[in-house]
Amino acid sequence: PPVRARIGRRSAEFSTVYRTKSTDSATPIRKKDKRVTSMQRLESAPQDFDRVLSSMCTEPHPAARQAAERFLATNPGDPETYRTVADLERDAVELLGTVTGLPEPAGYVTSGGTEANIQAVRIARNRVETDDPNVVVPTHAHFSFWKAADLLGVELRTVPARDHRANTDAVAESLDGDTVLVVGVAGSTEYGYVDPIPELAELAHDAGALFHVDAAWGGFYLPFTEHRWHFGHADIDTMTIDPHKVGQAAVPAGGLLSRSPTLLDELAIDTPYLESTEQITLTGTRSGAGVASAVAAMEALWPDGYREQYRRSMDNARWLADELAERGYDVIEPELPLVAADVSQSLVEKLRDRGWRVARTGSDELRVVCMPHVTRSMLRSFVADLDWY
Ligand code: PLP
Repeated sequence: PPVRARIGRRSAEFSTVYRTKSTDSATPIRKKDKRVTSMQRLESAPQDFDRVLSSMCTEPHPAARQAAERFLATNPGDPETYRTVADLERDAVELLGTVTGLPEPAGYVTSGGTEANIQAVRIARNRVETDDPNVVVPTHAHFSFWKAADLLGVELRTVPARDHRANTDAVAESLDGDTVLVVGVAGSTEYGYVDPIPELAELAHDAGALFHVDAAWGGFYLPFTEHRWHFGHADIDTMTIDPHKVGQAAVPAGGLLSRSPTLLDELAIDTPYLESTEQITLTGTRSGAGVASAVAAMEALWPDGYREQYRRSMDNARWLADELAERGYDVIEPELPLVAADVSQSLVEKLRDRGWRVARTGSDELRVVCMPHVTRSMLRSFVADLDWY
């Protein structure tokens, strides 16, 4: 099964790039790059986005950038001491509730989608007394659920998809009395597809489990699609929606929302030496920059700015899909602004050599995420480079 096979093995890339010391003499130690010093790197311009087609992060909105800088030295992990940023976090949760149509939302600004997903699994595990909890996820769920399962000691039951969406029959078959959580993805990482959320919610609740929606990437697009009503649906218990992705906040700003504050109590830990007496977050000290910039981005862009962004990004995705199809590639019809197409590995490597940051799906398709920084002229020059080969 993929679960165990994927946990606990490090890739060669991890060993050579991130490990600086090694006790294993067979592993090469990467020599320090003599040409560029750390000081030179610090003084150089940060990475620009003009050839980045693989990332789910983007250029922050100017107001978000400014707010991040202003709140850089605050710690919402200690809300009694850092009161303004704590108030801003309440504003952020309110705004995220507005974006997702969840009345009276509870939650907090996480370090990203990974933390929000781990915490959703933790809530579900802690809520139910069972020796053998399991979580049912579609195979296309983000890899953060594998981390959650590994950390929290729950069994992850992966169910195959049908046409890149969760197969509700397969989900129904996987559920049993020890299922604590069912996960639906609203904007999958690989294809940008949305699972049948209401049907999955019903299955989860019939089995006595909680239902979590991972809308880390898709959450800021969904209000402008026909899926809008799903998010006012009372049967969603918890949701991940990340301001630092389509929300155009600065990193780190993820979001965990809960239908009620009671569910968050499952996460509470006493904090005797802080002014505040308990903490529900996974991390301790956290970035106030992320919190402030999430509020600034949402104040600036909800709803008109996000609607306009969705329209532009979706137009770009459809344009790219048509251009690739005209050239004879098999293209997966985009549902949200993400295009996957059957472009050969060798061609993708050549595009990478020309500076394009492009990624591949698990099935080896080219994957282009039409984030806010991805413009039509950028895509035109990408297609021109593709034609060149
Ligand atoms: N969930 C989904 C659907 C994602 O696409 C991603 C990241 O791309 C995550 C969760 C994890 O988010 P992060 O990288 O912010 O932890």
